[in-house]
Amino acid sequence: MTQSLAGYSVIVTGATKGIGKGIAAAFVQAGARVLVTGRDEAAAEACVAELSGQGPGTASYLLGSVTSAADMDRMASVAVERHGAIDVLCANAGVFPEAKLDSMTEADWDHVFETNVKGNFLAVRSCLPELTRSGRGRIVLTSSITGPITGQPGWSHYGGSKAAQLGFMRTAAIELASRAITVNAVLPGNIATEGLADLGDDYRASMEAAIPMGRLGSVADIGAAAVFFASPAASYITGQALAVDGGQVLPESISAAEV
Ligand code: NAP
Repeated sequence: MTQSLAGYSVIVTGATKGIGKGIAAAFVQAGARVLVTGRDEAAAEACVAELSGQGPGTASYLLGSVTSAADMDRMASVAVERHGAIDVLCANAGVFPEAKLDSMTEADWDHVFETNVKGNFLAVRSCLPELTRSGRGRIVLTSSITGPITGQPGWSHYGGSKAAQLGFMRTAAIELASRAITVNAVLPGNIATEGLADLGDDYRASMEAAIPMGRLGSVADIGAAAVFFASPAASYITGQALAVDGGQVLPESISAAEV
């Protein structure tokens, strides 16, 4: 059953496409007023047009980068201007460029950590006063199974950043518990997004073969987990990481995944 979040003010960073757009859609379907952010204006306009047909909630966008403290402060101000409050921050924006260790540059490393880890911190810090005022404040991070649970050659910087998000989450959850703000993380497995479609059918088939449920996840699967963490039903859950991966991390061996 869809949770009703009518009247909630929600921000989703990195929501012009992919998982963030799916999270935003789930909140719109739950009745929330959603501010989506990203840097690509054409994609943001298209996203909001798509979400607007999915009511009963509403969606609008604001351009900005999670790597900019000024942009994150502006994001919080605009959410309050448009919705009067901030109840939920979904810190979702992330990048995952491939680089093996032998050729990885400092710039590669810094780009991933600046977006995926510092970006979480800046978004959370800017929204904290309003999340505190809300009385039902929720922070939902998009981490990954890669890093916290598994490894993937070519993504050591990414895996490190996704694990770092969970370290941030645990201390933030303690610091913010007395304000009734919860901080949790969704760990997506392999999710079907626009970007994945470009990689072709063979790639998709090889990924599906490693997932006990035999299919990639959908952005709606991740959106449902984010809505759950934001809902009153989850008000006593904080500092937790929830893998949403069709069982991908479970097999001990290749043969175990082939049953
Ligand atoms: P995606 O399709 O590439 O979308 C990434 C989103 O982040 C875009 O909306 C992009 O918007 C935004 N973004 C990137 N850098 C940004 C910045 N500096 N400031 C603001 N927005 C920024 O990626 P995705 O697959 O949906 O991934 C979303 C999150 O899920 C990431 O944290 C990723 O690590 C995580 N994840 C994905 C998968 C998967 O299978 N897809 C699995 C595990 C975890 P603009 O281009 O408009 O800036």
